[in-house]
Amino acid sequence: MTRSDKTKQLEKIAQKMINDDPLPELRAGAKQLVPGNGNADADIVFIGEAPGAREDEQGVPFVGAAGKFLAEMLDGIGLKREDVFITNIVKYRPPNNRDPLPAEIEASLPYLMQQLRVIEPKLVIPLGRHAMNVFFPDFIISEAHGTPVQKEDLVFLPLFHPAAALYNGGLRQTLKDDFALIPQLIKNNKT
Ligand code: URA
Repeated sequence: MTRSDKTKQLEKIAQKMINDDPLPELRAGAKQLVPGNGNADADIVFIGEAPGAREDEQGVPFVGAAGKFLAEMLDGIGLKREDVFITNIVKYRPPNNRDPLPAEIEASLPYLMQQLRVIEPKLVIPLGRHAMNVFFPDFIISEAHGTPVQKEDLVFLPLFHPAAALYNGGLRQTLKDDFALIPQLIKNNKT
């Protein structure tokens, strides 16, 4: 598929999510769907937890403080937001930024998997334990971060959530060190 075909497919998935309305309660409390954005033909897909207030307002994931830090780390490895695809497991903002409920994650997962099947990234980066546990329920983020792991036809690199690094200065360097692994992983994984 060409990049423009993939862009169209991703738009269809977002539209289908609006039509299916799998999370009517979250949708009713949110301003809009935040399906994800960036390069539909990206090598790397970042997966966060759920949109926050800024994301809900703009319809774009990771535009707040955590997003700024994410962009900074991308810059450190020579990438821009537009080069990668950024999304969340749950695509409507939960009220008061509470953690997504297991049922909300379950209802959202089919759409995330469809997005991954369209993009066919070389590397999937779950940010934080919620995103990681969707794919690896038994993993513990403090142990699993920074180690690539293959599951079916996808390669994952679990990382700490950038918001965690904003609150815990020690994690900043860890996250930067883990980020430094990304270029080599993309090179190695020729799919
Ligand atoms: N945190 C997330 O997990 N996702 C966003 O989109 C913003 C902050």
